[in-house]
Amino acid sequence: MKKCVVCEKGELIKVEDIILPVEGYIFIVKGERCNSCNEEFPYEEETQRTIETARKLGIWPEPLKLYRSLSKSGGGLIFRIPSDIEKQLKLTENTPIEITKIGDKIVIEPER
Ligand SMILES: [Zn+2]
Repeated sequence: MKKCVVCEKGELIKVEDIILPVEGYIFIVKGERCNSCNEEFPYEEETQRTIETARKLGIWPEPLKLYRSLSKSGGGLIFRIPSDIEKQLKLTENTPIEITKIGDKIVIEPER
């Protein structure tokens, strides 16, 4: 029996009903589930297949890294949201956003 690496107490049981949500779509995959903490471990090939299917459907959230510079307006710095991100996240000028500073990173999250 395989031991769970998360809680180190439970055993991993084979299951066929692990739910992987991707951008609002639900994928059911095979894998193992801990009988103590319920942590799920989808099989690597199942995860890969899900990613491939999601890519074909055009729903896999590819990490997007873009470089932009800030501009100055009215004494403050302005950050323009790249249009790809604007479209992907369906942002409008009325979308409330939350700005979090984590170390030297700035995370901008649209509120839902
Ligand atoms: Zn566990």
